[in-house]
Amino acid sequence: MEDVIIIGGGVVGSLIARELSFYEISVLLLEKEEDIPMGSTKANSAIVHAGYDPLPGTLKAKTNVEGNRLYKDLCEELKVPFKRIGAYVLAFNDDELKTLLELKERGKTNGVSEIQILKREEILKREPNINEEVKYALFFPTSGITNPFLLTIHALENAIENGAKVKLREEVIGIEKKDMGYKVITNKSGYYCKYIINCAGINADKIIHLLDPDYPFTITPRKGEYLILDKKAQNFVKSTIFHVPTQKGKGVLVTPTVDGNILLGPTAENIEDREDKSTSHEGLSEVKEKVKKLTPNVPFSLVINIFSGIRASSTYKDFFVQEIPEFKNILHFAGIDSPGLTSAPSLAKMAVEWLKKKENIKRKKNIKNFEKIVSFKELTEEEKENLIKEDPRWGHIICRCEHVSEMEVRNAINSPLPARTLEAIKKRTRAGMGRCQGAFCSYHIMKILSEELEIPINMITLRGGKSFLLNGENKVRWKYAKRS
Ligand SMILES: Cc1cc2nc3c(=O)[nH]c(=O)nc-3n(C[C@H](O)[C@H](O)[C@H](O)COP(=O)(O)OP(=O)(O)OC[C@H]3O[C@@H](n4cnc5c(N)ncnc54)[C@H](O)[C@@H]3O)c2cc1C
Repeated sequence: MEDVIIIGGGVVGSLIARELSFYEISVLLLEKEEDIPMGSTKANSAIVHAGYDPLPGTLKAKTNVEGNRLYKDLCEELKVPFKRIGAYVLAFNDDELKTLLELKERGKTNGVSEIQILKREEILKREPNINEEVKYALFFPTSGITNPFLLTIHALENAIENGAKVKLREEVIGIEKKDMGYKVITNKSGYYCKYIINCAGINADKIIHLLDPDYPFTITPRKGEYLILDKKAQNFVKSTIFHVPTQKGKGVLVTPTVDGNILLGPTAENIEDREDKSTSHEGLSEVKEKVKKLTPNVPFSLVINIFSGIRASSTYKDFFVQEIPEFKNILHFAGIDSPGLTSAPSLAKMAVEWLKKKENIKRKKNIKNFEKIVSFKELTEEEKENLIKEDPRWGHIICRCEHVSEMEVRNAINSPLPARTLEAIKKRTRAGMGRCQGAFCSYHIMKILSEELEIPINMITLRGGKSFLLNGENKVRWKYAKRS
């Protein structure tokens, strides 16, 4: 019997698992995919928003501003990159200027500090690639950028180091009320617990409907498509550049990433299929047109990849963080769309406060800190030489674009939350995320995965399930994959 079962290993579930692992309770996180993060946390703009957009008084506004404040320390603790690069919202006419003034007031009400209103000359001096037709901009110095993959993975690894358990490839398909609490049924097994925390992202409404099929809460998947530019474009803008927001969200943006790329997007399109992560000519053309309005000289010839992410939008106008009275001791984090990445640290603290009201939970005396993972390219020449003397595989560069060594790949496979797929290696090491997008390193990584996991190379997948990378006897392999 577990004290708490968390459903879903996105940024929200993983940060909650970490916070709860600091207490004398048992925590089990169930995730349906082969790795984390795989939902919205895997594909988003990675902006730690300042907090000017959510309506005052909402949970979004409160947790956005609080989450933003928590980010610096959290990222230091989890050894995750975080940069407060600031964000501009641009106005090209008087109507948009009116919106800027409203946003400024809204930001102040929400508790956002240091908001500045800038005129054309100052904007262009700071960001010469912004459209010269700009009239005014709001500047939010507290806006930042981070790496959502590492944040989520390191949070869950730190939770594991502090005693939390994680089961991957376990999809929650049923919940039964029992005398002592609940039985959570997955595609593989059943687990008993006192408390459940639903962090199932795009499927959070489905979890609610497992309890009450008629409960009036539904998620509408909203897709966002992106283009990403090579690091050659890294000085194109220094801060995040936004249009004024609309009903559908903060709109298309141009932003640096913490790894030195430039990200363009996202669109906002309501879709039927929750798993539809395709990109389209129309979507990407829309992004291109809209970013040209912000920054006309975007070097589109430097696009190295395109992708899309799905927002868990709902008709409820706020994050739905509630315990439904008929199903006590289950806390739902549902409809966590933007600014969910920013709000996640604050939402995680809410989960702890919720549990504290129910149980007298005691903080552990010895909490393990997250230890920094060696990134070969960040070392000094002397440090590199010493490591190579210890093990020559440190000197074997697998990914030339991102300068990732063989030992970093092996360490990722042998980490507390082991990488078992090509994408899992990418997220942890950046191997395959550079200009050639894995053309050189993918096969080498597959060979290492095959060796470390002791499985044939044609069993290696891109992201689990049937996403095999090499052709062969698919039917036989799929049977074998299900067994292992
Ligand atoms: C295009 C886009 C841009 C965005 N930009 C930003 C931004 O710049 N800044 C910001 O603050 N926010 C942004 N967001 C929002 C942010 O990404 C999300 O709010 C956040 O990632 C939500 O995290 P989560 O943990 O709730 O959900 P997810 O990351 O979706 O995680 C849910 C997990 O639950 C698992 N799961 C689902 N069903 C089950 C089941 N039945 N059993 C077991 N596991 C299950 C899934 O596999 C998944 O791993 C953006 C979102 C999108 C899509």
